[in-house]
Amino acid sequence: MTARMDWERAAQLLAAAQNIIVLTHIDPDGDAFGSMLGLAAALRDMGRRVITAVDGGIDPAFRFLPGADAVQDQLNGQNADLVIVTDCSDERRIGEVGKAGRALGVPVINLDHHRTNTHFGDAVLVDASTVAASEGVLDWLDVLGAHIGPATAQCLLTGIVTDTLCFRTSNVTERALGKAQRLMQAGGNLGEIVARTVNRTPAPVFMLWKAVMPRVRLEDHIIWAAISQSDFRQAGIHDEDDGHFVSLLMQVDQAYVACVLTEVERGVDISIRSVPGFDVSAVALALGGGGHTQAAGATLDGLTLAEAEAQVIPLLRDAVRAGSPQIR
Ligand code: 5GP
Ligand code: MN
Repeated sequence: MTARMDWERAAQLLAAAQNIIVLTHIDPDGDAFGSMLGLAAALRDMGRRVITAVDGGIDPAFRFLPGADAVQDQLNGQNADLVIVTDCSDERRIGEVGKAGRALGVPVINLDHHRTNTHFGDAVLVDASTVAASEGVLDWLDVLGAHIGPATAQCLLTGIVTDTLCFRTSNVTERALGKAQRLMQAGGNLGEIVARTVNRTPAPVFMLWKAVMPRVRLEDHIIWAAISQSDFRQAGIHDEDDGHFVSLLMQVDQAYVACVLTEVERGVDISIRSVPGFDVSAVALALGGGGHTQAAGATLDGLTLAEAEAQVIPLLRDAVRAGSPQIR
């Protein structure tokens, strides 16, 4: 597994910083909020002043996380002497707050777990064998000898639980399970996290699935569907959140690769999954995006759903041809 861990450089940068901005990726998910807020809580426990920000601010579904109320949707000209970015594979995905953060001209620490990470920043802590950026945050805190308080534990456990669909993804390791146990011992509430995240689908999202389901196609081990703006409107969804429909499609036994194409303002967002034995990160990378072997994505600017489908499905056919299922 690919890893680059600039432990010493990161420790030096942290030692020299009092005011720290922690950022994460646009369209944040549970690991984005979990890793950003878990690290922020630990840094506050170490006596640092910390600002957290992401474009769009906090997602109401993650308001239960300690520190969620302090998440800003912009940087308001605030200063700092260090920027740390979590769960973000490339600089564009830090969004507008990222541009404002970089404009400060202070050092940047890049803490992530995507194998397609571009290694931007002044210290890189990227380990693709960790199941979540939140697991990477715990590794760093351990290297620093930091205390893990209950707020940190709840946030990091949320990142691990959501990125692994509650320990169901193929990348879950014994190490990750051990760390989840430690986070529970430190105050993480697994029952609450599961109830508020992986076991919960908002009714409008369920109605969206119901509307899209008749159009799902399954062909040559590829399962896919397209979701239009009108689908979202009719379901009463305003943030283009499809509740990880692609993970539902990936459960179909004949499918090796699953893809959901979503019409967005810029063009088409694609979300891809595969079962072990098939690599979809290369497909996403070829389309200008990125991700992991079994979960990746990209945004295709200026295309219609039909144009995007015509471009993406042949690449998925190639990915299916290049692999074979590890588990039959
Ligand atoms: P999801 O399908 O859950 O949106 O994303 C799956 C994985 O692909 C995540 O790890 C996410 O970071 C990555 N990913 C999704 N969309 C993009 C994108 O547009 N660019 C990049 N670089 N990665 C993406
Ligand atoms: Mn992640």
